[in-house]
Amino acid sequence: MDKYDVIVIGAGPAGYIAAIRCAQLGLRTACVDNRLGKQGEPVLGGTCLNVGCIPSKALLESSALYEKVRDGAALHGIVAGELSHDVAAMIAGKDRVVQELTGGIETLFRSNGVDWLRGSGQLLPGPQVRVTGHDGAAQTLAAANVILASGSAPMDIEAAPLQGDRIVDSTGALDWTEVPPRLGIIGAGVIGLELGSVWRRLGSAVTLLEAQDVFLSMADRQIGRAALAVFRNQGLDIRLGALVKHTAVDNDMVRVEYEVEEGVQTLEFDRLIVAVGRRPYTHGLAAAEAGLLLDEGGFIHVDDDCCTNLPGVYAIGDAVRGPMLAHKGSKEGVVVAERIAGQQSEVNYDTIASVIYTQPEIAWVGKTEEALKTAGNPCRSGVFPFAASGRARAMQETDGMVKLLSDEDTDEVLGVHIIGTAASELIATAVMAMEFAGSSEDIARTVFAHPTLSEGIHEAALAVDERALHISHKRRR
Ligand code: FAD
Ligand code: NAD
Repeated sequence: MDKYDVIVIGAGPAGYIAAIRCAQLGLRTACVDNRLGKQGEPVLGGTCLNVGCIPSKALLESSALYEKVRDGAALHGIVAGELSHDVAAMIAGKDRVVQELTGGIETLFRSNGVDWLRGSGQLLPGPQVRVTGHDGAAQTLAAANVILASGSAPMDIEAAPLQGDRIVDSTGALDWTEVPPRLGIIGAGVIGLELGSVWRRLGSAVTLLEAQDVFLSMADRQIGRAALAVFRNQGLDIRLGALVKHTAVDNDMVRVEYEVEEGVQTLEFDRLIVAVGRRPYTHGLAAAEAGLLLDEGGFIHVDDDCCTNLPGVYAIGDAVRGPMLAHKGSKEGVVVAERIAGQQSEVNYDTIASVIYTQPEIAWVGKTEEALKTAGNPCRSGVFPFAASGRARAMQETDGMVKLLSDEDTDEVLGVHIIGTAASELIATAVMAMEFAGSSEDIARTVFAHPTLSEGIHEAALAVDERALHISHKRRR
């Protein structure tokens, strides 16, 4: 029987990165994936490249550019004239980006010597892996190590079963070639806000129905409140404490009944997106006799080093505990590959950043002020608004702030929370500072180029000690 050093099941950002790193380390590696692209062809890249991070960011970029030209050009003295959009061309552009990137992984597999096995992989005792190709032909392969990276799928709810192109999940909402006049979204989480922003910018009246009373409950409260105000001001109709009870498609209209404190309300939409979270995708991943342990909720049970309950079997990415983020899965992939090769390697889960790619963007790393209070960890806070940033003013992008939290005793940076233009890029500075256990004083003493948005991080660090230079603090004397 053909024997590999490593077989990876799943070629998303967790699995394909694990496979490449294994191959770099001299391990004979194969990667099995069962995903088919839009033309029915086997594709690499998983959710992230095909129906997640990349296509959503391509559409966010295109729609943001359209809105910027429409609403922002005049502020810069640019006369844009009559403006229109071609949604079908936007979708085609997005598909091109996806194709180029998924093709890029195929090239990387080839150049690194990773065998791409097209089909479904199933873990058998041993460990062995049964690979069933798209044509139904099966083969069994032995491996010294198996890495499970089967990812996740959209959650569904009984109140809103998917229906054609009317009630869709995030995947369906990436392919409409016409702008729905009235768009409803269940869930004002990351996907709801990103896809809601895309379609609002292109002309939809967007309503988000969110079950929780608190907006963006995972974010710092101050940032969450600021975000809610900005998004409502942009025209997103965000209804909190709204639990969807029933949906029906009638004459191409979607009727949605939802419950709020005042009672049951009804709304009609042309399309509805269900964006209520994702669940681990582990169906059929392991034969019963393999004895793979799953947690409650179907996540593969792993320890801090991504080891499952079976010797030589690891699991990474969305299929295991922790945030469902591409970079978290990729880091786990690198770490597991390096541990298999006998190296010391670990994931620092405290410095995994979260980003929401709206405009303004929202990004954070570390603890929120509320979490620190709950944990009884006294902290100091410095806040710097982008309205006081020269670069943000020049860009006419003054919404938002940087908030930096540091430990009251040691001054170590414990969290950085940003809402503002390019927050997704700015957060890397904070991640580096925290990775090196930096203090607010370390950042305060660093010289940042002028004029840049990153000066906002410098000023927030100065503000911790009430010495930011471009905002007023109370006089000390
Ligand atoms: P996946 O990417 O889901 O890949 C798993 C792969 O394994 C899939 O191709 C699947 O078909 C295959 N597979 C499963 N079971 C088997 C089997 N038995 N045999 C063979 N193959 C199998 N994250 C970010 O960090 N940033 C973002 O901007 C971002 N945007 C997103 C936008 C949207 C609309 C969505 C839906 C998600 C987004 N995410 C984002 C989340 C991100 O896509 C996931 O966290 C990431 O893809 C998880 O990677 P993974 O490798 O664990 O799994
Ligand atoms: P989410 O957890 O971010 O948001 C889901 C929201 O739906 C929650 O606020 C929840 O309270 C609400 N909800 C659940 N059931 C409901 C109901 N019956 N009625 C009304 N509201 C309800 O999940 P998501 O937006 O689906 O995204 C899934 C995951 O994908 C995220 O957790 C994230 O990890 C990943 N993702 C990341 C990015 C990014 O990094 N920029 C982008 C998209 C997706």
